[in-house]
Amino acid sequence: MGTLYIVPTPIGNLEDMTLRALRVLREVALIAAEDTRTSRVLLRHYDIDTPLISYHEHNKLSRLDSVFEALATGDVALISDAGMPGISDPGYELIQAAISQGVRVEPLPGPNAVLPALVGSGLPTDQFVYLGFLPRKAKARAELLESLIPEERTLVFYESPNRLLDTLEAVQTVMGDRTVCVARELSKLYEEFVRGPVSTVISHFTANPPRGEIVLVVGGAPAASDEAWDEDRVRAALQEHVAAGEPLSSAAKAVAGQSGWKRREVYALGTETNPRKNDRNP
Ligand code: SAM
Repeated sequence: MGTLYIVPTPIGNLEDMTLRALRVLREVALIAAEDTRTSRVLLRHYDIDTPLISYHEHNKLSRLDSVFEALATGDVALISDAGMPGISDPGYELIQAAISQGVRVEPLPGPNAVLPALVGSGLPTDQFVYLGFLPRKAKARAELLESLIPEERTLVFYESPNRLLDTLEAVQTVMGDRTVCVARELSKLYEEFVRGPVSTVISHFTANPPRGEIVLVVGGAPAASDEAWDEDRVRAALQEHVAAGEPLSSAAKAVAGQSGWKRREVYALGTETNPRKNDRNP
């Protein structure tokens, strides 16, 4: 039985291909590629003429047999269009099947968009949560963000340029004016990091509509133990939102995101202070 190599490929800069990745792609019997046309450009650039088959989202289960046939007599490399296969890209099912059939799986370290975005964001890197792409539907996206309000670790999402502003607005509404970083076009000519409170980043991208590939990094909730606001501060912030005409439920969400308090606790404070603004249950 051969080895299944998981080979990351550049996310924008061809120089990010490692020497080991090049050697493996030359030596394997077969390369399973997410999009053979995209990968041919890369392979041609490095004079690699290993046979290719497609392995993508829509044939990832029906293709397993062909990949295992090739593994019976030789090594196979899995690549995606860019970055690490299996990270918001096809790969998981093949890797799982290979492990369960006793095939050696050898993942190579290499390009991926999460880590450069996180490290360049300036937000805490000691612990983070990668969440892939947010749901496209506004309600599901808001629900997911809401469930993440108490999360203290830095959050990392992939996002498309045409949804970025909606997502930033959802972050602001649900989580408050958190510090965020939009990492755009990593490793490419127009690489850009836009960092700051989400309100400022929204203003930036309203004036300069986003383009290209994007990773959104969102600061975690303040640690409950040492940074949670005291009650007076929470009341004052809530009062400010309500006085500006915001319904209590969304004001409570916003203040919860900033203060390290739970939304229900903030809402309860609000109903004491603003009994008639009790617009609906949280
Ligand atoms: N497997 C890839 C990886 O390891 O990063 C991710 C593939 S996913 C289909 C593509 C998404 O990754 C893009 O929509 C974008 O959110 C992010 N991405 C990929 N390349 C990027 C880059 N050069 N700069 C910023 N984000 C990037």
